[in-house]
Amino acid sequence: MQSILSPQLQYLDERGNTHQIFFSKKAIDEFESIQKNAMTSDENGGIILGIIGGESLYVESVTSACVKDERTRYAFLRQDEKHLDVWNSINKNTKGRIGYLGEWHSHPEKNPTPSKIDQEEWKKIKNELGEPLLFIIIGAETMYLEGYF
Ligand SMILES: [Zn+2]
Repeated sequence: MQSILSPQLQYLDERGNTHQIFFSKKAIDEFESIQKNAMTSDENGGIILGIIGGESLYVESVTSACVKDERTRYAFLRQDEKHLDVWNSINKNTKGRIGYLGEWHSHPEKNPTPSKIDQEEWKKIKNELGEPLLFIIIGAETMYLEGYF
């Protein structure tokens, strides 16, 4: 689904159920600054951290590219273990309340769509971690969002 950045989104899943997806100010601010650089910078990316509340998801924060990640104009590969360190420490500090929700990365496109590599990667994560999961691609004007519930 294509959408503009917004603190609250309605997401219609494959089975026709509606889910609320909320974003903290911190997460929106981070995505907005990435959006501004989407056309000119190397792709950025990281993991999405937040809270699962019944049929809703609350995105609390996101990690972004670290030194050891592989970044080019048209690719992002998350490799730096710092993303997982952040995830572990947030999880610990919130006594498990805030955890992994999914992955995000940027594309140098106005209205991004997932590449074949993205789809294969998401499928792998889905098989490994189960649902709910959220995948986001930030473009220069809109974001692409795919949720699994
Ligand atoms: Zn991609």
